[in-house]
Amino acid sequence: MAELLKGFHMMETFANTFFLVDQRLVLVDTGTPDAPPTILEYLKKLRMNPSDIGTIFITHTHPDHVGGLAALKREAPAAKVAAHRIEADFISKKKTYTGPPGAARQTHPGTPVDILLDDGKTQDGLRVIFTPGHTTGSISLLDPARSLLIAGDAVNNEGPLRSMDDRYNVDPRQHRESIKKLAAFDFENLVMGHGSPILGGASKRVRDLAVTL
Ligand SMILES: [Zn+2]
Ligand SMILES: [Zn+2]
Repeated sequence: MAELLKGFHMMETFANTFFLVDQRLVLVDTGTPDAPPTILEYLKKLRMNPSDIGTIFITHTHPDHVGGLAALKREAPAAKVAAHRIEADFISKKKTYTGPPGAARQTHPGTPVDILLDDGKTQDGLRVIFTPGHTTGSISLLDPARSLLIAGDAVNNEGPLRSMDDRYNVDPRQHRESIKKLAAFDFENLVMGHGSPILGGASKRVRDLAVTL
């Protein structure tokens, strides 16, 4: 748990959860089903309450990102859930997600999505970048104020910066195209679901990866 940039905190559960403390408190991803007590504990340390949460972004429907959502929504019923409109149907369970066996298990309670996101839309100051391939409706979020890309599982930095293991990708080719798409943006800092943050020079690192794909 750490404040990586001013008003930007990262908490590691199984996948990383992010807190953006601006006019409104924003969460990105909710960890596994057992993560919410730790997330709420961290909020307390920030001297904030669950009722301060304005928006909860879900980058994609995998259990280590959406798992804690239902429990958090119980504590913060006024918080709006935001996800890409394709992914929203899997998060709410209007549709059954049939990803590769490694990550397809969708045991989370279906939770309605309040804000349907599209590529290029700005929500809570974050620009939505549609990065499908890991799941069909995966997104990344660009925070221009902090020159920060929150990539979700569009890339992985456990070890060298790389693509996600194809066992978990619904469409490996599309996943790589999404990394090339991210390489067209400029950002100093990069965080993602799995692995260490990159603070400084981050978009060059993504470009270096993209040319190898
Ligand atoms: Zn994932
Ligand atoms: Zn993940």
